[in-house]
Amino acid sequence: MARNLGPVCRLCRREGLKLFLKGERCYTDKCAIERRNYPPGAHGQARTRFSEFSIRLREKQKVKRIYRMLEKQFAGYFDNAERMPGITGENLLVLLERRLDNVVYRLGFASSIAQARQLVRHGHIEVDGKPVTIPSALVNLNQVVSIAEKSRQKKAIVEAIELSQRRGLPAWISLERDQFRGSLKALPARSELTMPISEKLIVEHYSR
Ligand code: SF4
Repeated sequence: MARNLGPVCRLCRREGLKLFLKGERCYTDKCAIERRNYPPGAHGQARTRFSEFSIRLREKQKVKRIYRMLEKQFAGYFDNAERMPGITGENLLVLLERRLDNVVYRLGFASSIAQARQLVRHGHIEVDGKPVTIPSALVNLNQVVSIAEKSRQKKAIVEAIELSQRRGLPAWISLERDQFRGSLKALPARSELTMPISEKLIVEHYSR
């Protein structure tokens, strides 16, 4: 499967925002946004005038990068969100939040979405007691997401759980940390998604 393997701090600098793509480093003063909060490249510090198109494009790119997705896959989520009843932009965010790699990250079993994706692919994660190796699998309400017993002492997981206590737990997720498991107790309400995202701009981008 295609993956974006470029330097991730450039993505944050391009969006002018911490996207928390690198685990522990994101919480230290080594974070590139703390040091050089301007777009990467030779013209990064030049004054730029943004067109309406570029504002909408940047918003779409930002959300795509938060969830570490490639264009085709992200556009597929938008199509699904459009077909669902309700508000397309909110549907899109809820679908992205329900991805297994995202739920593993939100539960604190991984320090970034990329690491969560790797844990899923390598068979360290179970859903309702069965291994699931597809990061894009959608987690349903009350399904139990857990770390496989054989993986619970894995260094990366132990460290991620420790780090996650600084992030806190979203209100829609329930966690039994000592049992290495958790679930979605509700779908996230828009007001509970705190990243600065304007999903309306993404809808306008794809509707142009
Ligand atoms: Fe983004 Fe984290 Fe890199 Fe900071 S350290 S620029 S938040 S990926």
